[in-house]
Amino acid sequence: MSKPLVAIVGRPNVGKSTFFNKMAGKRISIVEDTPGVTRDRVHADVEWLGHSFTLIDTGGIDPKSDDELLSQMRAQAQVAMDLADVICFFTDARDGLTDDDRDVANLLRRTGKPVLLVVNKIDYMGLNDQMYEFYELGLGDPIGISSVNMLGFGDLLDEIIRLFPEDTGEAADESSPIQVAIVGRPNVGKSSLTNRLLGQERTMVSDIPGTTRDAIDTPYTAEDGTSYNIIDTAGMRRKRSVEDESLEHFSVLRSVAAIRRCDVALLLINAEDGVTEQDTKIAGLIHEEGKGVVIIVNKWDLIEKETGTFEKYQKEVLSALKFMDYAPVLCISAKSGQRVNTVFQTVKAVYETSCRRITTGVLNDVLNDAMNALQPPIQGTRRLKIYYATQCDIQPPTFVLFVNDETLMVFSYERYLENYFRKTFDFTGTPIRFILRERKK
Ligand code: GDP
Ligand code: GDP
Repeated sequence: MSKPLVAIVGRPNVGKSTFFNKMAGKRISIVEDTPGVTRDRVHADVEWLGHSFTLIDTGGIDPKSDDELLSQMRAQAQVAMDLADVICFFTDARDGLTDDDRDVANLLRRTGKPVLLVVNKIDYMGLNDQMYEFYELGLGDPIGISSVNMLGFGDLLDEIIRLFPEDTGEAADESSPIQVAIVGRPNVGKSSLTNRLLGQERTMVSDIPGTTRDAIDTPYTAEDGTSYNIIDTAGMRRKRSVEDESLEHFSVLRSVAAIRRCDVALLLINAEDGVTEQDTKIAGLIHEEGKGVVIIVNKWDLIEKETGTFEKYQKEVLSALKFMDYAPVLCISAKSGQRVNTVFQTVKAVYETSCRRITTGVLNDVLNDAMNALQPPIQGTRRLKIYYATQCDIQPPTFVLFVNDETLMVFSYERYLENYFRKTFDFTGTPIRFILRERKK
């Protein structure tokens, strides 16, 4: 069900971000209006000939020396090999083949994943000759493109799509466990929390690698009989020697895959640091994927408290993550165990709200109340009319609004409706979405 992941790897300056940005187009989301998230997006949804996939830019390499360049490139390749269904290895026709390219190609050749060798900066046909030396890498026929001029994109996209795995079409059924991803920056306490949550369980069943390679999956049944599957993104780290964990960027990338296959994400934040830019980025991924979320402020034992500290902290977290102000915030200590017992019940509540269905009758009553309390916007002489609403999906709850003219909808009114719905129905911890459909009266 989830879309294939395509990762871009390669040295700095070969043109990865130029390619990524051209592919990502101009789609602007709420998240990107938030400072800190705009600067480097890590993933974009792409459509080509009826296939959709997610492109991730593994960029983020900022080496201080040649040695560091190599180790960061290896780490980048490792992340791509773990996560992606197809890897695009970018090289640069102007620089020609470099030793670093050779080194990374050696790693990539050993993966079972399909790798496409891309030679960028073939800005006009005459440069095609420069592609031949790249055959030496043993990664098949090089594909020449120009990211600046968008040349050769069609051929590359055709190849990418050809390499996608068959859709197994496996769907979650009612009895399947709630998938919980534990995500956050390095050292926020993901492993400590996982150990706390799983207790003895973990030593018995853990370290069974999950169905994918981004994390370790551990099944868990709570006292009330609810089954969970804990997707532990920190667990993998202990198995890697090559990866430079000092690069928070890679931990963000790792969380992409875990977030995509979860029902509810536990976003861990370090109480001492507050919300950082990387936290915002991970939060943005969760929101854009439409997943349920519980924000967990860990290391609460290290905060000096007086009356009102919790409320104040909670407010600060939600105002730093404005686009996610629907999330419950728990302040816990994985170390002492304080309030860890509230985590599963909160996850379950969020899971249930994300699966909530509102009947069409009730929904339209509430919609009418909302429109009576605040009239839809006017542009010029024309007022937005919303004739009818119906819920078309869950996870996240998604509502189709039938309107006279979708261009009359403004962000602030959509936000108003969202808040009105949230006030009426409990949607704690889940994003909700609106789809507009024009209907001639
Ligand atoms: P990254 O570090 O791999 O993400 O590389 P960038 O996308 O930042 O590109 C590095 C430089 O190469 C920039 O100055 C780009 O304008 C330039 N560049 C990228 N693609 C092309 C291309 O197809 N042709 C030419 N001539 N320059 C390019
Ligand atoms: P991860 O990288 O996110 O998996 O973080 P770890 O679970 O490895 O924790 C990083 C460090 O923070 C370790 O030294 C932990 O002992 C410490 N730590 C984790 N949770 C807490 C907590 O609730 N309170 C305090 N004081 N330290 C913690």
